[in-house]
Amino acid sequence: MPSYDYFCHDCRKRVTLHYSSVTAYAAATPTCPRCGGTHLTRRIKRVRVIRSEESRLETLDDAALDDLDDADPATMGRLMRRMAEETGEDLGDEFNEFVGRLEKGEDPEQIAASMPELAEEAGLDDDSGFGALEDEL
Ligand SMILES: [Zn+2]
Repeated sequence: MPSYDYFCHDCRKRVTLHYSSVTAYAAATPTCPRCGGTHLTRRIKRVRVIRSEESRLETLDDAALDDLDDADPATMGRLMRRMAEETGEDLGDEFNEFVGRLEKGEDPEQIAASMPELAEEAGLDDDSGFGALEDEL
């Protein structure tokens, strides 16, 4: 039985919806079980994917990771895109938008502030700011 994680924009909670089949999922309008809201966004498990792909990330050369320490947003964006390509996973539109904006030189915290579900997923909304994501990488 498929289940999908969502972020509810109405009550700002993470919720999981269960469907009897993928067909039922495709036909349904996601509805929040907590508040009945329908402003739900599928949560993308990109951070967990990256974390679970440590063996593949080892193929990245050390120089690239050293560069991340004082990387400007564009460098960080290129590195994140490269990591995503290493995993071979489709990490989703939000990830692609985030990386694309990094590559244009936008401040990571400003991007995260405009993408609340991404910030929550990546842990960017805590006091450590963008450092949390760097730790994940
Ligand atoms: Zn809700």
